[in-house]
Amino acid sequence: MSGLEALSKLVNQPSTAVVTMHHKPDADALGSALAWAMYLKKKGHTTHVIAPSDYPFFLNWMNGQDQVINYEEKREQADALIQEATVIYCLDFNDLARLNQMCDSVSRSQATKVLIDHHLQPHPFAHITFSDTSAAATAQLIFELIEALGDSKLLDVPIGECLYAGIMTDTGSFRHPSTNKKVHLIAAQLMDIGVNTSRIHQLIFDNNSEIRLRFLGYVLDKKLVVLSDMHAAYMCLSDDELTKFDTKTGDTEGFVNYALSISGINMATVIIERKDGVKLSFRSKGEFNVSEFARNHFQGGGHKNASGGRSSDNLADTEKRFIEILRTYSQQLDFNAK
Ligand code: 5GP
Ligand code: MN
Repeated sequence: MSGLEALSKLVNQPSTAVVTMHHKPDADALGSALAWAMYLKKKGHTTHVIAPSDYPFFLNWMNGQDQVINYEEKREQADALIQEATVIYCLDFNDLARLNQMCDSVSRSQATKVLIDHHLQPHPFAHITFSDTSAAATAQLIFELIEALGDSKLLDVPIGECLYAGIMTDTGSFRHPSTNKKVHLIAAQLMDIGVNTSRIHQLIFDNNSEIRLRFLGYVLDKKLVVLSDMHAAYMCLSDDELTKFDTKTGDTEGFVNYALSISGINMATVIIERKDGVKLSFRSKGEFNVSEFARNHFQGGGHKNASGGRSSDNLADTEKRFIEILRTYSQQLDFNAK
């Protein structure tokens, strides 16, 4: 049986399903999960969306987000739902470790696991895997799967808005190389359904708090380190700084792109000290593969030009180690990005 046949069997027979996504979900992870959950509900399933953590405030307009169960806040309820579920849909991540504290519970569950994802090198933990690393976003895969399952008629504005948000953000507003004709055609189809695309853009990008903007100003002025000779730039943010500026989840999202936007810089990194450890975000231009970089040195992964990882060292030691590692890449980083 092909993956699509197996999925078709699953979605056409009502189940008790859990839909989940990676820790600290972004618009693609949360949007895909909410859209898929809305679709499953229309197909008669009992569906719960469980997030491993909270998510950025600028996603709090998405349909159904108020019903999302935050595993870090409602562990007992979430564990019970995970153990009762007959199907668990894992969206927008390639490795169960990306569920953080929720990983054990999902691993233990006897449910049929379905992975729908576009990250490089998916781990083989699911019974059914839909992995397309050429897809611009998991939301694109959700759209294509609903179409392939013959259910396009079930696509509506609430589903479409979530999918559009995922595609728009993961493509950097339709500018990354992943943005091909197919992506634009899907965006056009979402407009046909009635999605107001400029409204989605405003909800996500014109929704800054004053705090976030002032914090960005501080970070760019005081914390940005530019290593011109290595074609790299980075910023290191401590827990004290995040607390002092009263930042919330999502407030540092996109900071890394400012560092990458510097002419001649081919790799940008943000190193953040979080309560649960040091987290790194990598971005690159051109052929420099930050997914490999994250996998080889920081227990992470992702995409060629956008990846993340973590470190068990403290912030200062992580920064030191990062610079030492970076030096070994100076030749690979020495190119003119076209
Ligand atoms: P971000 O920097 O926005 O957190 O993540 C960039 C990309 O890398 C996203 O696609 C994200 O899912 C992936 N990513 C971030 N952190 C990790 C990690 O620790 N492990 C893996 N495998 N992927 C990550
Ligand atoms: Mn994604």
